[in-house]
Amino acid sequence: MKKLDMIYEGKAKKVFKTDNDKKYIVDYKDDATAFNGVKKGTIVGKGVVNNKMSAAMFLMLEEKGIRTHFLELLSDRESLVRAVKILPVEVIVRNVVAGSFAKRLGLEEGTEIKETILEFCYKNDELGDPIINDYHIYALELATREQLDKIKTDTFKINDIMKVYFKEKGIRLVDFKLEFGLYDGEVILADEISPDTCRLWDLATNKKLDKDRFRRDLGEVEETYQEVLKRIQG
Ligand code: UDP
Repeated sequence: MKKLDMIYEGKAKKVFKTDNDKKYIVDYKDDATAFNGVKKGTIVGKGVVNNKMSAAMFLMLEEKGIRTHFLELLSDRESLVRAVKILPVEVIVRNVVAGSFAKRLGLEEGTEIKETILEFCYKNDELGDPIINDYHIYALELATREQLDKIKTDTFKINDIMKVYFKEKGIRLVDFKLEFGLYDGEVILADEISPDTCRLWDLATNKKLDKDRFRRDLGEVEETYQEVLKRIQG
């Protein structure tokens, strides 16, 4: 597989064309940003962890019947994926109160949420990914009703699968963000699943095992990313 022109560089990943127009190569970086790009830094080894963890998560989800963009791990930092068109909607799933949700509604971080909450954000960095609902998605034509229905069904399934999966690794799945893309007209799971995109707390101690260590300057950032990968692979 030939790595050709870079078509996109985001905060944490680069995407390259290949000699097959249905396949892209994703290259994971160590760059870290938070608070809509205001805080910047490097987490040494993060790209490797996020690449390998995403691969493991996508393979696990595929086995359980979820279609994803993932095809093959190519190297420490690179994966081969299906060339999807990312839908400009970020899907956030909340099982436990944390982050912006705690702030917005004045709730205490760590409180178990009685029913799983889905939130949608308009994927637009300039606007700071504003929260939107189904009506905004239809009116702005970010996705059709059929596409959003598929996203919701898949997202609930993914949450059920991931909650059990992480529990077996001694991890509480607090919240996470998903992105979906279009491939041959079908909505499939894309982007990444990593400590950058999930809040993961140790089941026994509630220690934060995710990007909040960087966001909130909690220390042991690099070590924590390695620890999560070790638990996923163990
Ligand atoms: N998240 C993400 N990318 C974003 C915003 C959020 O991956 O652009 C993830 C974040 O890591 C957390 C979940 O989505 O696991 C919920 O994030 P929240 O809305 O609480 O925002 P934050 O507190 O991260 O600003």
